[in-house]
Amino acid sequence: MRSTLLTALTVLAFTVACTAQSSTGDVSTKPLSTTDSTGATIMKTDEQWQAELTPEEYRILRQKGTERAFTGKYWDHHADGTYTCRGCGAPLFTSEQKYDSGCGWPSYYDAIDSGAIVTRPDYSHGMTRTEIVCARCGGHLGHVFDDGPMPTGLRYCVNSASLGFEQAKPETDPTNEPEKP
Ligand SMILES: [Zn+2]
Repeated sequence: MRSTLLTALTVLAFTVACTAQSSTGDVSTKPLSTTDSTGATIMKTDEQWQAELTPEEYRILRQKGTERAFTGKYWDHHADGTYTCRGCGAPLFTSEQKYDSGCGWPSYYDAIDSGAIVTRPDYSHGMTRTEIVCARCGGHLGHVFDDGPMPTGLRYCVNSASLGFEQAKPETDPTNEPEKP
């Protein structure tokens, strides 16, 4: 008899607890994901990108467009420095990795960092190519081909419109005391 009463009380208490819980269980807003399906960590709406980029940059970076060969800002650019993503500013290539491929687009035999660029198969326009996108913002950069020079044998063929450039700082005065470990 006592155990029956105890069971009844337990069930009652459990029911009350459940009811209380469900009555406060409001529909919470789902937290926004910090990455999208490409692993990009910067996500903006099309409207935001359009506001930040020129029409040409938007067409290339966000709609996988291609600038005409020999028309971009950087295909014949030889200054020392770092090429960055026009969409988010992430460093992508160095001037040492740039070489003259003759194709009319800025070409690099390697990326600044293996994690800076993501590759994806691209079957558009009846071709099989490997698309390269910025790992941070998912912006379309161009394609990578396997006809580049050593040591990698790769040619990262990039639209100038997808790039920014940060000039290297001028060399420090050689008469200054050299850095010692
Ligand atoms: Zn980017």
